[in-house]
Amino acid sequence: MPRINCSVENCSYNQQKDCCANIVNIGGKGAQDKCDTCCGTFLNRLGYSNLAQYTENRGDIDAILCRVDTCEYHANEHCTLNQIQVGGAEEVDIYTETDCLSFKKK
Ligand code: SF4
Ligand code: SF4
Repeated sequence: MPRINCSVENCSYNQQKDCCANIVNIGGKGAQDKCDTCCGTFLNRLGYSNLAQYTENRGDIDAILCRVDTCEYHANEHCTLNQIQVGGAEEVDIYTETDCLSFKKK
């Protein structure tokens, strides 16, 4: 199962830099650079508390769904990598401020 190392620590799904969401949606159709991509599953901990504490999922993601058709690792609306890195601004307010750092242009 894939894993996501994520530096967006104010996301509800972040548990010591492991993503604990079951399914993650990476967005950015037609992206030309990392900064054109984002994690659409980001939830601000300010509004949603710490969801990671309610899940038994400790870092294994069921699926990384991805819309970035211009990425080398994109196939059938999924990511083909076993591990990706997500990052963002120091204090992310909305999901568009996050990036898939593993993006590689085709
Ligand atoms: S920003 Fe995305 S990858 Fe990072 S912890 Fe949140 S849901 Fe997971
Ligand atoms: S590495 Fe590429 S295919 Fe995988 S999630 Fe990131 S942008 Fe999508």
